[in-house]
Amino acid sequence: MATVTASHLVSTVCQVNSHGADTKAANLICMKNQAAITHNGLRFLNMLDRLQMRTNAKAVARQAVKQENPRPWGKIICGKGLNLVFVGAECGPWSKTGGLGDVLGGLPPAMAANGHRVMTVSPRYDQYMDAWDTSVLVEVKVGDKIETARFFHCYKRGVDRVFVDHPMFLEKVWGKTGSKIYGPNAGVDYKDNQLRFSLLCQAALEAPKVLNLNSNRYFSGPYGEDVIFIANDWHTGLLPCYLKSMYQSRGIYMNAKVAFCIHNIAYQGRFPFSDFSVLNLPDRFKSSFDFFDGYETIDAAHAGILESDKVLTVSPYYAQELISGEDKGVELDNIIRKTGITGIVNGMDVQEWNPATDQHINVQYDASTVMDAKPILKESLQAEMGLHCDRNVPVVGFIGRLEEQKGSDVLAEAIPRFIGENCQIVILGTGKKAMEEQIENLETQYPDKARAIANFNVPLAHKIIAGSDFILIPSRFEPCGLIQLHAMRYGTVNAFDRLIQFQ
Ligand code: ADP
Repeated sequence: MATVTASHLVSTVCQVNSHGADTKAANLICMKNQAAITHNGLRFLNMLDRLQMRTNAKAVARQAVKQENPRPWGKIICGKGLNLVFVGAECGPWSKTGGLGDVLGGLPPAMAANGHRVMTVSPRYDQYMDAWDTSVLVEVKVGDKIETARFFHCYKRGVDRVFVDHPMFLEKVWGKTGSKIYGPNAGVDYKDNQLRFSLLCQAALEAPKVLNLNSNRYFSGPYGEDVIFIANDWHTGLLPCYLKSMYQSRGIYMNAKVAFCIHNIAYQGRFPFSDFSVLNLPDRFKSSFDFFDGYETIDAAHAGILESDKVLTVSPYYAQELISGEDKGVELDNIIRKTGITGIVNGMDVQEWNPATDQHINVQYDASTVMDAKPILKESLQAEMGLHCDRNVPVVGFIGRLEEQKGSDVLAEAIPRFIGENCQIVILGTGKKAMEEQIENLETQYPDKARAIANFNVPLAHKIIAGSDFILIPSRFEPCGLIQLHAMRYGTVNAFDRLIQFQ
């Protein structure tokens, strides 16, 4: 006997009545029944279901248009895709402390969708469940030792994700990667960071030659020597130097180019000048590293800028700031003025940060359903935080690293000036211990109004972006900042300038 389900009943009613005389009445019955049934007939449609249906309907319509006009593979548009190798200390979602991880996570798939063959190379800080051991080993000289690095790999969203496995990464950062990538605690660096990132750069230079990668349906085999390396921040400043000294001097990688991208000039990788000898570079590179900040030091970002073919940064405005003077260029303004710099505004990963598909939030929404969805998401955030649930109370959110740059201390000082208003504030951040304590104290001071979570919690970051009315960005400087892009995509107002007035 055939099982009769609720959806079966609906379609039977529709069919029977559509042959009858009164089609309008039949349609009404049909609509009424459809409205009464959902989730395999288990319960009535509620408000959230209806909201979801409205959001989904738009997505389905968009998908249909896409299928009618499929986006041609970029390979066809360009005629010739480039081989791009992004190298960075972070790569989201596998490793991330901030925007650098976001960019290494989101930009490569976008480049792959435009027809380029794209690889990322970053450290294997943890036992990533989705990356497999390639069994390919390389030997590189780090300091005075020969170290063996192993490559792990996965292929996701059109990108070869390559992870460099070595105890210098895995043993130090095992477990939670958020806070320990650069040092045991926020603001404290590992003493051997220059060696750790020397290993990363050398392994990244080997990867395109030695890895025989065949996951991509349009490209196969090793990437070869015609590649463009996109080196990100000081951790990869050594890459163009090794490219020249170890490879191009021997006729290898003769067409390879390096673009060095500055995400935040405040981080430069300065070490005592005596450390130059552990980098295993010829003396002629000394001048590229040489930097005087009261003491003679080596500066990895300095070398990356001078030795690369192109210098990039994360926004046109930040490019201007970097050459505006010693203060904003953090003493590298002179050399950047010499090399020139191009600012390309940061993008966000539109797949991860998409309110219509975001799995971290309770209701998905888009521009047509935002007004109905946000009050629900606000209440859900209030409930999760243990705040009084009231959709009429404006909720202010803050997400960020707890360092001077991000101005969480400015925020803490400003709070007494507005907390008397009808509002609530939710703060999420990790970083310097003193700043973590400062935000946690707010909760004790204002138990009905403030919540502070000193943790690295990506799902909660999504909930705060979606559930807040305002996102506060009290940064003292901001090279580009992805949080405001996320907020704009989620229909959340950015309160950037207002708070600066409190400083
Ligand atoms: P920056 O790169 O200077 O840290 P951005 O605004 O460019 O700042 O990027 C910060 C990224 O890190 C965003 O994706 C943000 O959601 C995320 N983030 C920052 N702090 C946390 C945290 N405590 N928990 C989860 N995500 C965080």
